[in-house]
Amino acid sequence: MLNAGADWIHLDVMDGTFVPNISFGFSVLDAVAKVARKPMDVHLMVVRPERWFERLAALGVSCVSFHLEAAGRRTSANIAQIQSLGMKAGVVINPDVPVNRLFPYIGKADFFLIMSVFAGFGGQKFIPESLERVSALRSEIERRGGNALIEIDGGVYADNAGALHKAGADILVAGSSVFKSQDPIAAISALREA
Ligand code: ZN
Repeated sequence: MLNAGADWIHLDVMDGTFVPNISFGFSVLDAVAKVARKPMDVHLMVVRPERWFERLAALGVSCVSFHLEAAGRRTSANIAQIQSLGMKAGVVINPDVPVNRLFPYIGKADFFLIMSVFAGFGGQKFIPESLERVSALRSEIERRGGNALIEIDGGVYADNAGALHKAGADILVAGSSVFKSQDPIAAISALREA
């Protein structure tokens, strides 16, 4: 299934401190890295994310994103460190962080991840205002002549994928809509066609 239909493999790492839940750590990431033939996209929902960048690079991870709320003043330094390790750097915000807080990192980050649910739990319902947040960020990236990609994560299904793409999202992260489907490969195709 890892190599079945998706373009990337998105891995949600939760530390029980930045978010009130624990998902998995390096033993699972190692196991995935051994079989993955698609790029690994690691979303760090952890405090002090910079502790893990070198180990993720050593695993062959392609993209690493960390939360602006967790990094604060270290955000630019984190982006530079991830890029210096040969990976793409992404900055993530939860739904309660104003989207313009990302604007200073246009031209620095390779991608931005807008959470369309609150980080930390799967199976939440898509927050409709996320569409406006995606289009506001897309407009600002275009206005500044940037080329960062926009990723969206949380409650993504075939019924909102088309609208998200139209609003300017380039990368759709799907959890429940794929993994809880009877036919995960068909669910991925439905997202692509939406
Ligand atoms: Zn994620």
